[in-house]
Amino acid sequence: KVLLEVRGLTAVIAETRQKILKGVNLIIREGEVHAIMRKNGSGKSTFAKVLVGHPDYEVTGGSVTFKGENLLEMEPENRSLAGLFMSFQSPVEIPGVSNDHFLRMAYNARRRALNLPELEPLEFFTYVSKKLELVNMDLDFLNRNVNEGFSGGEKKRNEILQLAVLGADLAILDEIDSGLDVDALKIVAQAVNKLLNPTNSVLMITHYRRLLEFIKPGFVHVMEDGRIIKTGDITIADILEKGGYQALASP
Ligand code: ADP
Ligand code: MG
Ligand code: MG
Repeated sequence: KVLLEVRGLTAVIAETRQKILKGVNLIIREGEVHAIMRKNGSGKSTFAKVLVGHPDYEVTGGSVTFKGENLLEMEPENRSLAGLFMSFQSPVEIPGVSNDHFLRMAYNARRRALNLPELEPLEFFTYVSKKLELVNMDLDFLNRNVNEGFSGGEKKRNEILQLAVLGADLAILDEIDSGLDVDALKIVAQAVNKLLNPTNSVLMITHYRRLLEFIKPGFVHVMEDGRIIKTGDITIADILEKGGYQALASP
């Protein structure tokens, strides 16, 4: 079953009108793991941010459906409530708001959207404690303000904690591997793998093949100058790694 269908998506930077996405096509079905690779500045983060409705960008053409609905017409908050999750390359700090409070509010909003009763603080604590184990985080993580003073690796784990708490039909992970040593990467990857099931999907964005050894994608896409120029299996990542970017001739 198709989860996300992107057709000819074009987008500009809202302020400068600079064209960044120049016709992206992508189909993700339930249970699939996808990766988008290639060098800095090709538009990978922009693509992810356009999907979640980031206000810095404006869609100028093409279509996107998520679970059969027109994603581009949905408010960013409703995209998230509908089951689209994105972990940011540079997660923001939210001073004065504890992780515990933030996660509980976000989770209860999602439960309301799913017609489930909200969880009281104690019930939520029981729920979130199990999720903390998944990402190997201590309980005191909950009392700290969202991402404030977190190390790079802690921020990445906190993003996965958010994903674990909220659940998602499609999780977009933008450079979840950047700045992680191999042990931290293993923890993050194991957590993502545990969250994967036959009805949800992951879209990873990365420069490095290393991540794909821990979270195995069925599909690897190469993005170049605002387009997906090649799609294949993991062997594409091998070609990129061995021959550098020149090894892949444009179609
Ligand atoms: P990637 O994630 O592949 O490294 P990005 O999507 O972050 O690429 O960026 C693509 C291009 O668009 C880059 O040249 C970047 O500098 C530019 N860009 C993206 N977002 C903005 C923005 N908000 N303001 C100005 N330039 C931007
Ligand atoms: Mg980049
Ligand atoms: Mg990026």
